[in-house]
Amino acid sequence: MFKEKNPEAAKIRVTLYGSLAATGKGHLTDQAIIKGAAPIPVEIIWRADIVPEFHTNGMFYEALDEGGKVTDTWTIYSVGGGLLANEETHDNVEEVYEFSHISEILDYIEKEGLTFWEYVEQREGPEIWDYLAKMWEIMQATIEEGLHTDGVMQGGLHLRRKARQYFVRASSFKPSLQSRALVIAYALATAERNAVGGHIVTAPTCGSAGVLPAVLYHLKKNHLFSEKSILKAMATAGLFANVIKTHASVSGAEVGCQGEVGSACVMAAVAANQLFGGSPQQIEYAAEMAMEHNLGLTCDPMCGLVQIPCIERNAMAALRALDINIYAMMSDGKHLISFDKVVRTMNLTGKDLPSLYKETAMGGLALLTDEDKK
Ligand code: SF4
Repeated sequence: MFKEKNPEAAKIRVTLYGSLAATGKGHLTDQAIIKGAAPIPVEIIWRADIVPEFHTNGMFYEALDEGGKVTDTWTIYSVGGGLLANEETHDNVEEVYEFSHISEILDYIEKEGLTFWEYVEQREGPEIWDYLAKMWEIMQATIEEGLHTDGVMQGGLHLRRKARQYFVRASSFKPSLQSRALVIAYALATAERNAVGGHIVTAPTCGSAGVLPAVLYHLKKNHLFSEKSILKAMATAGLFANVIKTHASVSGAEVGCQGEVGSACVMAAVAANQLFGGSPQQIEYAAEMAMEHNLGLTCDPMCGLVQIPCIERNAMAALRALDINIYAMMSDGKHLISFDKVVRTMNLTGKDLPSLYKETAMGGLALLTDEDKK
């Protein structure tokens, strides 16, 4: 966007702040910016020591002419899931949904006799299905490519991809073990592709992109759910993620990994529950449990790379989402803590987490030294 506005710029200078600077190399932020601005050369300045008030993932763009004079500037923030915002745009987002809490949506759909996905269709229009079909296509392609890719992932941890190996091993397991083992392979496939900057669908973010596709792909293969019912499950998953985004955050830099993998687990749990015929109350219960049991999950990526703990964490969340589906399906949907309440709790927990555990790669597992790795 900045390049299009400044096509004559001789150079673009980008200052990265806060978490974006702390983990920018591992998250490939600099490469993405350089690629986006090409062929205009880019200078990156890293200022992890400055944490902007609006959001920690701040970027300050400057366009420079031949003489080095600044001709344009832009301050923008990466607020999670690929979305950009700043002070001006923040209050200008078009509100598609009239209700922002699941309790309000539940009241409304009960009164109208609707399902969650019908509410999404009502608000988004029928074009939502083409959009979701495209996302589902990419998700499946990402898994299929990931299952057939081998080798060491870039970044310096020298981690080998595991999805292919796990897929091969899982294929020889007895059926009772095989289906869960394959879910692991599917989640690894997408998470490993994300780790090397491959094509993925943010669901709700890049780091947590493996959870929802793994669960949906597994359910499609094992239970032969139709494409249309999978798209409907995705619509409901998106609705719940939107509530999290509205009242808390899906950004690891803001609330830790509970906002990323926790939210992805919610998406996968509600999608699975809807596919198995869960009532709106059971779906809401599945969502609540998926977040409740990820509360406090820290973000402490080693070397700032989205590899350890991120990749395995996607696989664990996919399995957990399927277990939660079973638990919710066995219930009558009644429970004490509402999803809205657990989202508020997640937000407060995230705010209380020290910044060491919010995508700065300065605490937790990220502190593991080379010596410890041996
Ligand atoms: S640990 Fe941090 S970087 Fe890794 S998936 Fe979770 S939020 Fe993203």
